[in-house]
Parts: sequence; C-alpha cells; structure tokens
Amino acid sequence: MIKPVLLKVSLVLSFVLLLNVYYAFPQDYERQRQHMVDAQIRGRGINDRATLRAMRAVPRHLYVPADQRAFAYSDRPLPIGYGQTISQPYIVAYMTEIIKPRKDFKVLEIGTGSGYQAAILAEIVDHVYTIEIVEPLGKTAGELLMRKYDNVSVKIADGYYGWEEHAPFDAIVVTAAAEHIPPPLIEQLKDGGRMIIPVGSPFRVQQLMLIEKKGESITSRSLMPVRFVPFTSADN
Ligand code: SAH
Repeated sequence: MIKPVLLKVSLVLSFVLLLNVYYAFPQDYERQRQHMVDAQIRGRGINDRATLRAMRAVPRHLYVPADQRAFAYSDRPLPIGYGQTISQPYIVAYMTEIIKPRKDFKVLEIGTGSGYQAAILAEIVDHVYTIEIVEPLGKTAGELLMRKYDNVSVKIADGYYGWEEHAPFDAIVVTAAAEHIPPPLIEQLKDGGRMIIPVGSPFRVQQLMLIEKKGESITSRSLMPVRFVPFTSADN
C-alpha cells in the first residue's frame, strides 16, 4: 500500500512536471528571441529602435514550418518549402532598418515567403503591401498575417510589376535576387523613397543594393554581399 503522504508528494510532483511542460516551450521561445536580438541584431550594430522593438515582438517560430521551430531563432535562413527560405534574422533587421521605416509609411514587399519580414514591417509602418509568386506560400502567409495584423495586404502575382494601384510607396523591400532592378519598381517608388534589393545571378553571391530616388535622379549603392533565392517570373 502507498502511504498517503507519498501519494500526495507524487501528485504534487506530477502537477509541477505538467506545469513545466505546459509553460517551458513558450517561455523558451521568448527567451531565445530576446537572446537572438541581443546577440545577432543589436550586437551586430542594428540601432533603430522601432526595428529592434519589432524583432523582439514578432514570434519568428510561428512563421517557420513545425519541423524547423527548434531553429527559429538561430543565425541563419531556414527552408519554408517550395525551394524557398525565410531570411536570416540579421538580414531581415538590416533591410528593415535601412529603409528608415516610419509610422506613416506605405511599404511594398516583393517575396512574402513565410510572411515574417511583412510582420516585422507591419509592427512599424502604416501599411504593408506584399506580393508572392508561389500561391501556397502566399496563402499560408496571408492567413497567418491576417490573424494578427489589419495593415497587411497580400497578393499572389509576379512582383516584377509592383502594385500599381497602391503606388507610390515610401519604401520597397525586395527579398528575392533579381538580375536587374525591375523598372516598374523604380517608377512606383515615391520621390525621396528607398528601395533595398539583392541584385545578381541566381545561386551566386549577390549584392544587396540601396536605391534612392530624388526627383529625376536615381542613386544606387552596394551594401554587402548576400545570398538570396532567385527572383522568378511568371514565364519561367
Ligand atoms: N520575405 C520572405 C523571404 C522569402 S524568400 C520571408 O520573410 O520569409 C523570397 C520569396 O520571393 C520566395 O517566397 C519566392 O517565392 C518569392 N519570389 C520570387 N520571385 C518572385 C516574384 N517575381 N514575385 C513575387 N515573389 C517572388
């Protein structure tokens, strides 16, 4: 016969154990996320307060497939299916900071992918318009984003042509590597606007470029070598 006191102790212990299992995971993600921002983002020179706040707030693990969750806060891109990836957290933060995002901004993103970059932008700016060419990715990301944000619009289309009816944009963030800068995107950039885009051949090292539009003048600057999935078109 089990002594009543032992029974009580074991009941309390199992309760504590269950409580741990219940709470450990979310807390762990939260802790991992704050560590990611401290070590990978702030620690590497990202200073913009709004960007840091957004990176601390958005649960990146919700934007990756279930079998990748354990790596959600690690310092690298991750597969999201259909041969595509969610960008490395540092790159997401870097591309967000460089457009100097403000509350009143309208931003166009090309390459919704997981929806994570769109979520980061949606935390900061007035409205995010995001275009994805792979239908199932766009649908999944759209559903995920709609649960939390009412300031994101997702469209399934070839982002090469931008989103004319909502142009001009304060900033454009392109998250797939293009061989050249799509002229419609330059056209749809506001005067004084900034575009960040990886330029170069697929599956090679590309250059992350910052494009600035001031009146008739377009300036471009190479920022750093990067590796992005290719910008595809509806024809290939
Ligand atoms: N911003 C995404 C990164 C996804 S990777 C994230 O945070 O997860 C780049 C995405 O660009 C892929 O999903 C790819 O399907 C998409 N893409 C490639 N060419 C495109 C095009 N012409 N128009 C729209 N999306 C495109």
